Amino acid sequence: PVPHAPKRIKALDQDVVNKIAAGEIIVAPVHALKELIENAVDAGSTSLEILAKDGGLKLLQITDNGHGINRDDLPILCERFTTSKLKTFEDLTSIGTYGFRGEALASISHIAHLTITTKTADSSCAWRAHYADGKLVPAKPGQSADPKPTAGRGGTQITVEDLFYNVPSRQKAFRSPSEEYSKILGVVGRYAVHCTGVAFSCKKHGDSATSISTPSNASTVDCIRQIHGSAVANELVEFAVSDPKWGFKASGWTTNANYHVKKTTILLFINHRSVESSAIKKAIEQTYSTFLPKGGHPFIYLNLDIDPQRVDVNVHPTKREVNFLNEDEIIECICDEIKVKLSSVDTSRTFTTQS
Ligand code: ADP
Ligand code: MG
Repeated sequence: PVPHAPKRIKALDQDVVNKIAAGEIIVAPVHALKELIENAVDAGSTSLEILAKDGGLKLLQITDNGHGINRDDLPILCERFTTSKLKTFEDLTSIGTYGFRGEALASISHIAHLTITTKTADSSCAWRAHYADGKLVPAKPGQSADPKPTAGRGGTQITVEDLFYNVPSRQKAFRSPSEEYSKILGVVGRYAVHCTGVAFSCKKHGDSATSISTPSNASTVDCIRQIHGSAVANELVEFAVSDPKWGFKASGWTTNANYHVKKTTILLFINHRSVESSAIKKAIEQTYSTFLPKGGHPFIYLNLDIDPQRVDVNVHPTKREVNFLNEDEIIECICDEIKVKLSSVDTSRTFTTQS
């Protein structure tokens, strides 16, 4: 058989490329929200209010009281790789803020209707701007795309509507808004526990009551109590351990041997970013196995700071996986410390549990 002539190779349209890139960063509403929360915290906010409709697919709104955005930056705000947080490649190793490559807002603008209202302290009014595909667009056809002056408080309000409206394959993947909403509550709850000094509230559109509400003066344990209940909060042990040799500092709260449930809950922050680590989870569960009855699991909030030079943050746009040097040694130090704490608290209890 005569082979077919190869099809000619062509570059994808920029619009398609942008949508693919955005879809890699934002797979579900919760991923957009996490970026928006990190931005608000980076902006020095002490109050974050979150509102979601249909699990964030119809509406995701976050209102902060941070430093706001300069009006003159609004035209380039949603372009890819525009950021106020990074100037050189070397900055990547010393970056202290959450975001670092200016992709979040750009991505959102490619797959949702995005509206931003913002006011800095030295501006006499707030400015509102609408975005699509990285650029300013008019609120209504025929109008100017320029930001419009409006009344508003200091800070920034970001409104994301109709997420994935132009990505039909992604839309079909969502089975239930309530599942998406519980993921949203998960991420809001994590940041509420981690960011002491910042008040969080999260509400479902149409509900009069908030699902999560933590005041800015609440302690870490107060926040855990609010979100995870007294059964957890009453059984917490504080721990802290560090080793300059491995360039890390770890601290947090973990449940004692009196508490156990069917599934482990880990609130893990590495350099102030909520991440997941199966290696850490496994080691923690292993550590607890000698203290808890068979099938029993702990709750732990673990705040891990690692020397930025030892962390490879430039891995994947989702930034959900973080790689760092001497992972095994660091995990061992943390687990050893937890073992010491568990042994010293309520030793009588450990005699009655099987190992
Ligand atoms: P990155 O966070 O990586 O810089 P983003 O796309 O998330 O990229 O945000 C781009 C820029 O927009 C940020 O660097 C910041 O200057 C500004 N910005 C975004 N959200 C806020 C906010 N809530 N308050 C103040 N500035 C913000
Ligand atoms: Mg960001």
